[in-house]
Amino acid sequence: MLSTMHDMPLSLAHLLRYGSTVHAGAQVVTWTGSGSRRRTYAEVGRRCSALAHALRGLGIEGDDRVATYMWNNAEHLEAYLAVPAMGAVLHPLNIRLFPEQLIHIANHAEDRVIIVDGSLVPMLAPHLPRLETVEHVIVTGGPSSALAAPSGVTVHSYEELLAGRPDEFDWPEVDERSAAALCYTSGTTGEPKGVAYSHRSLWLHSMQVCMSDGANLRQGESALVVVPQFHVMAWGLPYAAFMIGASLVMPDRFLQPAPLAELIAAERPDFAAAVPTIWQGLLQHLKQHPQDISMLREVLIGGSAVPPSLMRAFEDDHHVTVLHAWGMTETSPLGSVARPPAEADGEERWRYRYSQGRFPASVQARLVDEQGRSVPHDGVSVGELCVRGPWIASSYYGVSAPDKFVDGWLRTGDVGMISEDGYLTLSDRVKDVIKSGGEWISSVDLENAVMGHPAVAGAAVIGIPDERWDERPLVVVVLHAGQAATPAELRDFLAASVARWQLPENWAFVSEIPTTSVGKYDKKQLRAEHRAGRFDVIRP
Ligand code: ADP
Repeated sequence: MLSTMHDMPLSLAHLLRYGSTVHAGAQVVTWTGSGSRRRTYAEVGRRCSALAHALRGLGIEGDDRVATYMWNNAEHLEAYLAVPAMGAVLHPLNIRLFPEQLIHIANHAEDRVIIVDGSLVPMLAPHLPRLETVEHVIVTGGPSSALAAPSGVTVHSYEELLAGRPDEFDWPEVDERSAAALCYTSGTTGEPKGVAYSHRSLWLHSMQVCMSDGANLRQGESALVVVPQFHVMAWGLPYAAFMIGASLVMPDRFLQPAPLAELIAAERPDFAAAVPTIWQGLLQHLKQHPQDISMLREVLIGGSAVPPSLMRAFEDDHHVTVLHAWGMTETSPLGSVARPPAEADGEERWRYRYSQGRFPASVQARLVDEQGRSVPHDGVSVGELCVRGPWIASSYYGVSAPDKFVDGWLRTGDVGMISEDGYLTLSDRVKDVIKSGGEWISSVDLENAVMGHPAVAGAAVIGIPDERWDERPLVVVVLHAGQAATPAELRDFLAASVARWQLPENWAFVSEIPTTSVGKYDKKQLRAEHRAGRFDVIRP
């Protein structure tokens, strides 16, 4: 028997209409470096209509791709909403990619328009002649005259293009399964690949962001979105905010610890989200420049493992709860979220919070061994994590990847275990795990342990070739300014929590650990630097 329910397509046009009327007074706040500019969701709605008219005027029809090359700000939010709502496909470009990757991605996606922040024009301009399908560049927040267009490309000013346009748009009905946005993986472990989110997947994902077992975004609160809008759709926060009526606080290009601290003081957000390296930087800054950040009800951290010492520092020194979550570009990204079960208390709660968390009802997870056989969820057996669900990719855009998508399951490339009560603990990425004498050493466990030392500001662990054991860990460490620690001291410190055979004998001290385009420690780069003999490896 079929249900008697109406089959309403879940579309971002509906989300835009809903948020800009029902939550008309919620705001997107953009930091300018010395203050904020504000726009209500009602105004955002009107400007989205104007933008859609402007894009139609430039010939954007059907599923044409409209790219952005922007910071997190009000105009980027307008593109986020207007482009999919008019039936086109939004493609946020990662502004930190190497030129060759950027060019490859824009050509692969066949972007016809790029909306670019005025401050980023000098970075984009040199590559424009090689962007084969781009016909229009729209410059926000700066003079369009600063950009000399290559032949075949017309340059517009965003504000001039919107001026005088109608503030209503006849948003089309779209198939909820059609693409709304396209994000490329950041290429940490390979070439970037495109993931096309549908209207339906973004809608359902937004609901999960608002759910109490998700990010628990709440009506009337404000969310500081430090995670870039080009990194997995800013973790779904802009759409979820429009759905629930939460305000958005956007840092624009002011992402260093000092301006972030200033923004937090000025706007007093209730919620914030970013990768661990951002928060490590902020914590260090706050040590030297103490400031109250306890208005933050919760800080969502993911993208790489959150060291327990970071979570404790937030809690003990600043009375801020860290919410650890796991996800990837292919998972929209919300996968598991580490909220402890209500019945847990004391140290047990912390153990749950340190894990990568539980999956929501909509996401199915399983572990498989190297032959693809299921591994039990008993909290001890280790396997590769596979997931599937309505906001999990089942293919890449225009690239076949039969090893990545098996029987509808996404093979994540992450290795770990799942407890009987469904909590995931990741030990590593398949490509980062250290294979020593037939056993596996988790680089993440070692990093977390080293990060617990008070003199350590950052640590990344990679496997390096070893004649006897195949591979052994090399710990690359950054010390806090003015602090000292020898490899022998750090090794002794680890001995309390790490099995003897796993204790690293290779150490290197550096002033900075390279990060990827989305701010994670770049282990590919570290391995290359080690091969090139750039580290002064010390063996205590
Ligand atoms: P890239 O794969 O290029 O780094 P993504 O942002 O999609 O880009 O990264 C997803 C990967 O990040 C996951 O597969 C996992 O390895 C890692 N990751 C994300 N969140 C966590 C977490 N909480 N703990 C450990 N690893 C994480």
